[in-house]
Amino acid sequence: MAIQKYDLIVIGGGPGGYSAAIRGSQKGLKTILVEQETLGGTCLNRGCIPTKTLLHDTEFLTAVRNSYFLRGDMKINLQRIIERKNMVMEGSRGWVQNIITGNNIIYLQGEASFTNSNTIELKSVDGELKTLSASNIILATGATVHYGEGLQTDGESIWSTNDAIALKSIPRTLAVIGAGNRGVELAQIYQNLGSKVVIIEKEKNVLPKFDWDLASRYKKCLLDRKLNILIRSTLVSAIPVEGSGVVLKIETAKGKIEQKVEKVLLTGQRQPDYKSLNLKATGLSLKNRILDFDSNFETDQKGIYVIGDATGPPFLAHKAIQQGMYVIDHILGNTVSQQQIFCPNCVYGDPEVASVGLSEIEAEESGYDIKVGEFRFVGNGRSGSINNDTGLVTIISESDSKTVLGVQIIGPQATELISLACLVMQNGIDLNGIKKTVFSHPSLAESFFEAALNTDGEAIHLLNDN
Ligand SMILES: Cc1cc2nc3c(=O)[nH]c(=O)nc-3n(C[C@H](O)[C@H](O)[C@H](O)COP(=O)(O)OP(=O)(O)OC[C@H]3O[C@@H](n4cnc5c(N)ncnc54)[C@H](O)[C@@H]3O)c2cc1C
Repeated sequence: MAIQKYDLIVIGGGPGGYSAAIRGSQKGLKTILVEQETLGGTCLNRGCIPTKTLLHDTEFLTAVRNSYFLRGDMKINLQRIIERKNMVMEGSRGWVQNIITGNNIIYLQGEASFTNSNTIELKSVDGELKTLSASNIILATGATVHYGEGLQTDGESIWSTNDAIALKSIPRTLAVIGAGNRGVELAQIYQNLGSKVVIIEKEKNVLPKFDWDLASRYKKCLLDRKLNILIRSTLVSAIPVEGSGVVLKIETAKGKIEQKVEKVLLTGQRQPDYKSLNLKATGLSLKNRILDFDSNFETDQKGIYVIGDATGPPFLAHKAIQQGMYVIDHILGNTVSQQQIFCPNCVYGDPEVASVGLSEIEAEESGYDIKVGEFRFVGNGRSGSINNDTGLVTIISESDSKTVLGVQIIGPQATELISLACLVMQNGIDLNGIKKTVFSHPSLAESFFEAALNTDGEAIHLLNDN
C-alpha cells in the first residue's frame, strides 16, 4: 500500500486538533486532519456548544416567567428547543468544515492507529485502509468519561451528559451527580425546563475546583434558585425501577439514605483514552495513565505531540486551542520563551462564575503581600438595566508591584468579563494600567475597572472604607 506523506498529521478533529491543523496549514505545512466521528469533537457535538445553546434558550424561558411586566405562563415546545440546538451545532460544524477546506487541509474520516512512530494506519468507516506518514504528529484525541465503581449509564433512567443534552424528556425529578462546571450547568438547564433538581456532590462544596469563598457564594445563589444540594454525599448505586424511575443509594455525611427520582444524570470523571491509537507500536510511555510530555507538549518520541483533553486536566476547549497553536509554533521553531499561560475556568448559567490566576488564599500561601479590590455589580449602572445585579468582581494584586495575581468574578457575563483579566495578566498590565483605561459606560466591564480602583480606596460608585 502506497504511503501518503505529509508534514503534519493531526489525529482528532475537536477544537485542539482542528485549531492545530488550521494553524499548521496557514504556516505552510502540508497537513492532514483525521477524525473518527464528527468534526468539532466533544466541544461542538457533545459539550460546550450544545450546553450553552440550551442554557441560553432555557434561561430565556426563566427570564420570561420571572418578568416584572409579562403575565401568563409559557408553553415549551421541546422539539423546537432541540431543533435550534441541532441547528447551532450544524452551523458550527459547517463553519469549521469550510475553514478546513478553505485552508487546503486534507480532512479524512476514520480511526487512526500507529504502525510505527511516524506512520499511521487510517481505517475508514467502510473498512478502507490508508497509510499516512509525517515527521510531526499531533495527538488531539480527547478524553472519555468514567463513572464510579458499579455505576453505568443506560440511556433510559440513568443518563450521561450526552443523554441530557439530547433532551430525551423533561423529568419531573432529576438527580445530578457531580457539582462541577458541567453538572451545575445541566442542573440549571433542567430546572429552567421545570424539573425539580437535586445536585449530589461528594466534596465539601459545589464547584470543588474553584476557590472556597467563590464556590460558597455560588452555592447560595443555587439555593436561592431553589435547587437542592447534597454535599459530602456519594452515590453508591442507582437501580432502575420496573415501570419508571430509579432508586439512588447515597452515602451522606449523616449516614446512608435512599431517594427515588425519575432520572439520574452521571457527569463522571474525564480521562485521556489512547486505546484506539495502538501506542505499543511507538514506544510512547505513560505517566499516571497520561502520555508523558514536556513543556512543548512533545512526548518522549521526537515529533509526536499531545494536546488538549488528551494531556489530562483541566478539560477545557480554550486550553486545547491554545496548546494546538503553540505546538505548531514550536514545530516551526518559533517557540516563545516559556511564559506562564493564564487559562480561565468558567461556569455558565445564572449566575456565571469565572476565575483566572491565584485566589486570595493561594496568593497568601504563595507568600505574596497582597491587596484585594472588590466591586459589587449592584453599584454598576448596566447591571440594573439588565435586571441582573447579583455578584461581584474581585482582583487580587501584589501590594508593591501592583501586579494582578488573580481575578474572580461571579455575576452577569462573568465568562465574558474574565477575558479582560486574562488580557491584563497575560500582558503584564498592572493595576495602574487598568485604572488609566477608559471603559465604556454603562457596561458590566466597568465593574472590573471599579474593582481595580477599589484596591486603593478609589472606586467611584462605592463608599470606600479603605
Ligand atoms: C457537557 C460538556 C460541556 C462542556 N462545556 C465546556 C465549556 O463550556 N467550555 C470549555 O472550555 N470546555 C467545555 N467542555 C470540555 C470541552 O468539550 C473539551 O475540553 C474539548 O472538547 C477538548 O478538546 P480536544 O480537541 O482536546 O478533544 P475533543 O474535543 O474531545 O476531540 C477529540 C476528538 O478525537 C477523536 N479521536 C479520538 N481518537 C481517535 C482516533 N484514534 N482516530 C481519529 N479520531 C480520534 C474523537 O472522536 C474526538 O472527536 C465541555 C465538555 C462537556 C462533556
